[in-house]
Amino acid sequence: MCGIFGIANHVEAVPMSYLGLYALQHRGQESCGISSSDGTGVYTQKGRGFVRDFFSESVIGKLKGYSAIGHDRYSTAGDKEDGAEKNAQPIVVKCKFGTISLAHNGNLNNFQPIRAALEQAGATFQCTSDSEIILNLIARSEKDNIIEAIKDVLPRIKGAYSLLILTEKLLIAVRDPLGIRPLAIGQLNGSYVFSSETCAFDLIKAEEDDDLYLRDVEPGEIIWVENGELHSERFARSPFLAQCSFEHVYFSRPDSDVFSGRNVADSRDLMGRLLAREHPIDADIVVPVQASGAQAALGFAEESGIRFTLDLIRNHYVARTFIEPKTTIRHFGVKLKHNPIRKRIRGKRVVLVDDSIMRSTTMRKLVRLIRAAGAVEVHVRISCPPTISPCFYGVDTPTHEELIAATHSQEEICKIIEADSLGYLSQRYLTMALGRRPKQWCFACWDKNYPAGTPQEFQVV
Ligand code: SF4
Repeated sequence: MCGIFGIANHVEAVPMSYLGLYALQHRGQESCGISSSDGTGVYTQKGRGFVRDFFSESVIGKLKGYSAIGHDRYSTAGDKEDGAEKNAQPIVVKCKFGTISLAHNGNLNNFQPIRAALEQAGATFQCTSDSEIILNLIARSEKDNIIEAIKDVLPRIKGAYSLLILTEKLLIAVRDPLGIRPLAIGQLNGSYVFSSETCAFDLIKAEEDDDLYLRDVEPGEIIWVENGELHSERFARSPFLAQCSFEHVYFSRPDSDVFSGRNVADSRDLMGRLLAREHPIDADIVVPVQASGAQAALGFAEESGIRFTLDLIRNHYVARTFIEPKTTIRHFGVKLKHNPIRKRIRGKRVVLVDDSIMRSTTMRKLVRLIRAAGAVEVHVRISCPPTISPCFYGVDTPTHEELIAATHSQEEICKIIEADSLGYLSQRYLTMALGRRPKQWCFACWDKNYPAGTPQEFQVV
């Protein structure tokens, strides 16, 4: 779960990158960073925390140049404390190709065996992130220019990668052959911009009616911008794609167009409509778990004719809290984030719509909270299939053991969350909501069919 942004040949490359990362903040909040280039050097500032907090005026002032790349990072479990700083990106190395800075969204399946082999060959690493092996392999390539070196290295790495690479002279963009993570190209006053999501283009455009989006970096494509000119080559072609369907269910912003310009809000609206057709129910109000369940709840309400209300209020300013009163407060953790409007919920039959159930504990607390507010029935509707398997391609989902649907039937889950009924959107309907292109999507969260394999399958280099 990371966001990447890049811009080539623009007088305001650094402020534009700051804004791009700001728009992509939902993709990662543990650390952030920007590398910029002025044609003779590459300058990098990165650290822990939100973009608005880390990038003070003085930090931004240390960056200069006409091209830049940036990264928002969501660190995985285990490296959240010390690792957040150490694993912040872009990662930079100096080698025979000059200075190379890399920002990566995704996860590599064969990272462990490659890293072990590199360490045996004497390589040292700055951090524990899988992304660094890409730089290490590029630096060790025998090819005599960086584009050839990258093309030499890519077939060796397996998994999900959307990459932005900056050198003194080039900005390079790459997407893995299955296109698992998104990466869009835009054009701003003749400069090329790259972003995980198009919502960043909307923030930096000059006029409201501008549309910066040109196209996606194609799966298996390497693009480089040199002296303002865009060059492109395909390094791989796959007969099928594996674009992450969870980007449309939950992860991306609804105001983004993700994967060939498909709008995320459109997908979620359709998920909600199809959910209402698949699991109809007699009820008084449709209430979303905000924010990501909102668009699907709207679709559900419109399709079912049941009134849409925002009667479960979300506190948007929740961060981790260490102050919990000693006296017992029922449902304390979930109440920090959500509060039902008792006067509007009392006596109602409620359809509660959310985008997913992972461990079930949060959903059970929400159902209890709504019942305690006076609802006479609580029906839960989920805008994707039961999540039965973890992601190995860059989304920090719980482990197989922690996922409730991995070990329980839908009837059992309904009892566990204490709902009156439970309905999940089927994979068939999810595919319809994504535009009916079944061979273009990864659904591994829901069917365990991992199109790029799993780390267990890559124990030998
Ligand atoms: S496993 Fe799930 S979250 Fe991961 S890429 Fe596939 S659909 Fe997306």
